[in-house]
Amino acid sequence: MHKKTVRDVDVANKRVLVRVDFNVPIRNGQISDDRRIREALPTIQYLLDRGATVILMSHLGRPKGRDPEFSLRPVAERLSQLLGRPVHFFDDCIGEAVEQGVLNLPPNAVALLENVRFYPQEEANDPEFARALARLGEVYVNDAFGSAHRAHASTEGVAHHLPAVAGLLMEKELRYLGQALTDPERPFVAILGGAKVHDKIGVIRNLLPKVDKLLVGGGMAFTFLKAQGYEIGKSLLDAESLEFAQQMLQQAGDKLLLPVDVVVAPTLEPNAPTQTVPASQIPPEQMGLDIGPETARQFGEVVKTARTVVWNGPLGAFETPPFEAGTRAVLQAVAESGAIAILGGGDTAAAAEQLGFAGKITHISTGGGAALEFLEGRVLPGVAALLDA
Ligand code: AMP
Repeated sequence: MHKKTVRDVDVANKRVLVRVDFNVPIRNGQISDDRRIREALPTIQYLLDRGATVILMSHLGRPKGRDPEFSLRPVAERLSQLLGRPVHFFDDCIGEAVEQGVLNLPPNAVALLENVRFYPQEEANDPEFARALARLGEVYVNDAFGSAHRAHASTEGVAHHLPAVAGLLMEKELRYLGQALTDPERPFVAILGGAKVHDKIGVIRNLLPKVDKLLVGGGMAFTFLKAQGYEIGKSLLDAESLEFAQQMLQQAGDKLLLPVDVVVAPTLEPNAPTQTVPASQIPPEQMGLDIGPETARQFGEVVKTARTVVWNGPLGAFETPPFEAGTRAVLQAVAESGAIAILGGGDTAAAAEQLGFAGKITHISTGGGAALEFLEGRVLPGVAALLDA
């Protein structure tokens, strides 16, 4: 972690402008999952304990202009409950009224600004808009790892106008993911799944030279099986990535493990009639929807020896029973391994949550796209803009 954090700056009696990721699911004004709000609490509490006035900003969804459906107001209420103190809500994120409003806040108060994406200038990283945001604070803290792969005004532009440091959640994300990439405890095992090879090409390229074993499952495994010369029936095929898969198979040697058996069904639907077949014998009218039990056992054996595991993408169509069994078995092995286990966000986090393993994993990233880009070895603009340590 080569960036300054909240620990490195004096925030007492200062207005601290904090970019958080409060992009939570809201239906009819009700927040159905407040994990992202809870993840931001340590940084907010840290700043409050040191006498700062905390001004929070976030995006929510993809509004086209100002739209009450995408208001962050319900988040202010939930945050207030979680913090056990009032949270002042501003119905805008820039402008004179907000500037006056933040100056008039009582010392050590918490405020939340309205959705920054009500302005198209946010995603355009408009310099004027970034400056208008910067006028609200004296220090800028970025705690929104999940948005750090985007160079937007509230994640990147604003950092050029204020002393800019990482929050505690951002620090934690960069520490776990960064250590896995640069100095992992070995053996280091990566597990990749999910639907398309194409989305993971950068990750495979970057991780393959670094890992001791790469376990490939999920829909993307079938492109690799096809590249090996097997027929894959109606299974997912990412035809554009076939050549890449062939190259990787050649380069990887015995580092790369593919499924040796798969669970197939005629269609992807709940409780479809299934069979388990060898990966080399997928029937033409069937699609592979999960790794088979022998593969789960082999993957589990590898995982049990690991000291570091990085996992991105489910190993089967886990949302639809019974195709979650392979993902569950390998999650179980990861949980029992005692390895430092880091799960990418998005679907992998959802699978761990749904299958009851969320509490047994060292670190579940709050970033889907951001975690993937980090694992590709790319520099995240929201991180690059922060002060160097
Ligand atoms: P991704 O966003 O690329 O990580 O893909 C996640 C999605 O891949 C999840 O919705 C899974 O249901 C899906 N998936 C995983 N394995 C398979 C498979 N064998 N066939 C079809 N979909 C799959």
